Amino acid sequence: MNREVRVRFAPSPTGGLHLGGVRTALFNYLFAKKNNGTFILRIEDTDQTRFVEGAEQYIVDCLEWCGIAADESPQKPGAFGPYRQSERKPSYRQYAEQLIASGYAYYAFDTPEELNAKRAQEPNFLYGQKSRMQMRNSLTLTQNEVSELLAQNTPHVIRIKMPVDELVTFTDMIRGVVSFDTNLVDDKVLLKADGMPTYHLAVVVDDRAMAISHIFRGEEWLPSAPIHLLLWKYLGWESEMPAWAHLPLILKPDGNGKLSKRDGDRLGFPVYAMNWTDPKTGDLTKGFKELGFMPEAFVNLLALLGWNDGTDQEIFTLEELKAAFSVERISRAGAKFDFEKAKWFNHEWIKQSAANRLQLVVKDMLAENGIEVTHAETLAQVIELVKDRCTLLPDFVTQTSYFFASPSTYDAAAVKPKWNNDKAAFFEEFANTLNVELSAADLETNFKTLAETKGLKPGEVMLPLRIMLVGGKFGPGVFDIVKLLGKAETSARIARGIVEFNI
Ligand code: GLU
Repeated sequence: MNREVRVRFAPSPTGGLHLGGVRTALFNYLFAKKNNGTFILRIEDTDQTRFVEGAEQYIVDCLEWCGIAADESPQKPGAFGPYRQSERKPSYRQYAEQLIASGYAYYAFDTPEELNAKRAQEPNFLYGQKSRMQMRNSLTLTQNEVSELLAQNTPHVIRIKMPVDELVTFTDMIRGVVSFDTNLVDDKVLLKADGMPTYHLAVVVDDRAMAISHIFRGEEWLPSAPIHLLLWKYLGWESEMPAWAHLPLILKPDGNGKLSKRDGDRLGFPVYAMNWTDPKTGDLTKGFKELGFMPEAFVNLLALLGWNDGTDQEIFTLEELKAAFSVERISRAGAKFDFEKAKWFNHEWIKQSAANRLQLVVKDMLAENGIEVTHAETLAQVIELVKDRCTLLPDFVTQTSYFFASPSTYDAAAVKPKWNNDKAAFFEEFANTLNVELSAADLETNFKTLAETKGLKPGEVMLPLRIMLVGGKFGPGVFDIVKLLGKAETSARIARGIVEFNI
């Protein structure tokens, strides 16, 4: 019988959400949805020194913005709660103790000072099979000494006892067979002195308690896999073990190493999904959302970082991704992040979005810029007219505001040197005889004919007309603009333009 698909995104709430984190969430989500499964958000907050206020809500908001909210989460608990590891604290110690009883783990009483001294002596010091017998732990102390230390509440940790000369092997869904030499893995701490589990113990205990069937996580967790595999085995849960998939890294644009937030700062593009303000320093890090990415585009571009459907198709809706997603088509090689390509996705999405999808966003952005839009229908027409010219959502402000408010500045320098009274007279006549019922093409023909009868080259009056209406050398077809502005507004702008250029 196939087991029920339950997958989890398990971030630590330590700051802004890196796009690699969102991609991990997305692949979990897609796999769950493709297989009628459940997508779970579990907050891994056992390292209290790294806890950051607001980071959990930020993660929830990011998933929501992307349209991939979890089915079960701290905010929406299912039957497997709590969904924050800090709230599951009482459940971990028993398993660490169980591992000690069965000889797979041990108490270690070495103080932080002792460990620091050791590290100072031996810079490459690893607490493991080579050194464990020289340390203060339940492998070197007598049973009585250990009992005494425990009875006195002596601070201690519990460490896994890595086996000597073993090969830990598993089949990764993406990478195939992967093996690890246990001699190269140190005796990781499982339970800390404060009674909190480390990530390694908590992740295994919780994945089992939450009946997780498949694990999709970043490749950076691959070195931890042998510890997790051994824990599943040592705790006697091997038959319940989930399948694993370690997702390819997202690389810097030049392919040299993992993409970090610093690369984004250095190269001038966002790495976080949404704006993140560090609560301690107040520093703001810009996100894709606020920069003007559509969530549809963001999700689309993330899906293609390390996955494709085997065809040349690049534009996918979330629904299409749910249907097309397959683990077999996730690549092993790291995926280079290319911000220009990311913008291309956004541009494609803007182009293919209907005006009513964009309307509210554009209306809000215009309002933020002091422009009130009252005619929804005009806005819809304007959006249709200019959307091909917008790569990021804020481009709509420049591309649409002149439809709702006359230009506040004019690129007069582009017109003035060749401006003269003949042109002013031509524009007056054009405004007076304007019939906006005509098609844009007919308006253009009339405009050109009139220019010629006045002895003017049409090319010499096209640019001034655009600048009168728009303020600068941009925008869609100028006669489309004329039609949308209507006769009264076009004439008023022409009149004002003449004044501007005459000065
Ligand atoms: N808490 C880990 C993280 O921050 C989760 C790794 C895993 O999925 O096992 O990414």
